[in-house]
Amino acid sequence: MDLEEQLGAHNYHPLPVTLVKGEGVWVEDEHGKRYMDMLSAYSALNQGHRHPKIIHALKEQADRITLTSRAFHNDKLGILYERLAQLTGKNMFLPMNTGAEAVETAVKAVRRYAYDIKGVPENQAEIIVASGNFHGRTTTIISFSSDVEYQRGFGPLTPGFRIVPYGDIEALKEAIQPHTAAFLVEPIQGEAGIIIPPKGYLQQAYELCQKHQVLFVADEIQTGLGRTGRMFACDWENVTPDMYIIGKALGGGVFPVSAVAANREILGVFEPGSHGSTFGGNPLGSAVAVAALDVIVEEKLANRSAELGEYFLEQLRQCQSPVIREVRGRGLFIGMELTQPARPFCEALMKEGLLCKETHEMTIRFAPPLIIQKQEIDWAVERIKKVIMEA
Ligand code: PLP
Repeated sequence: MDLEEQLGAHNYHPLPVTLVKGEGVWVEDEHGKRYMDMLSAYSALNQGHRHPKIIHALKEQADRITLTSRAFHNDKLGILYERLAQLTGKNMFLPMNTGAEAVETAVKAVRRYAYDIKGVPENQAEIIVASGNFHGRTTTIISFSSDVEYQRGFGPLTPGFRIVPYGDIEALKEAIQPHTAAFLVEPIQGEAGIIIPPKGYLQQAYELCQKHQVLFVADEIQTGLGRTGRMFACDWENVTPDMYIIGKALGGGVFPVSAVAANREILGVFEPGSHGSTFGGNPLGSAVAVAALDVIVEEKLANRSAELGEYFLEQLRQCQSPVIREVRGRGLFIGMELTQPARPFCEALMKEGLLCKETHEMTIRFAPPLIIQKQEIDWAVERIKKVIMEA
């Protein structure tokens, strides 16, 4: 902790705990104290810490070959594509490492699509995004954030984006122009504090996009792969976006893997040299991702999330206190919005053995690994109630 404090840039504000071990939903600090992980590394650990099947895939692949670069083929990437095709129904994929890289990939793809296919005049393509969005931290991505704190001191910003209020279909309708390339949206806003749009919004937005040849791009990096009780949060409204962006749990909590999934008409705009990443599509990450997806499907983690999430939400809603403004969620993706800053509550929960993180000052996010058991939820609820009641 001291070394991190002295030598690391202070771009995070972690809780004062140093984790040295993890298994399933549990982690352990250097003194042997156990905690339940209620954050799951921002939903990158849907399968839990060190899932045996994923660790096995990692070790087996590490003993064969780990990195080829895309200058050569490897024997794992194609298998990952096949799994992604089964999962998304799409027929073309582009692998990256982190979420932000996959979002950047999507931005490039939809801009090219606008110029090459839709006929938008060069350099005039616009992408519509929602207020309160969080899509990552690169210079271009923060350029279309509505949070000035994410942008302060990092300009000049990248042009070509228009922000509309999240959940407002009329605003989207008004914003669409002939040069609109895409609408990029989180089906539930995670970092904004688990914000669920009004019922029908995604469906209506999708139809609007279809009508105007605007690509509907769903950033499912945090909400996808079972987190919200469906494989993708868009499934809640039976929407199949033109493009999915996925990451986090795709790497099974052990290796950064992200991808963009769409059809050939869209991702066909890339030719050799137009995009890439040294590590993107590497065999180690691909083997891990195949195992990570297999675990989600075989262990029916989306169903578990739906059932246990409903139970968890119900238990939390029974907790009556003036410090709670609202409890909301879908599946095991739950936000408890407070009437006062959430940080002290996260610190108190830590002392009780629960690791949570505040999101947007007033909200505590409860997003445990999807392998959590019902009795573990009871264990957590007991402690959450205690901390809230003592406030
Ligand atoms: N998009 C969404 C919706 C996210 O929640 C995140 C991370 O929290 C990202 C993109 C960025 O992912 P990464 O941190 O892997 O770059």
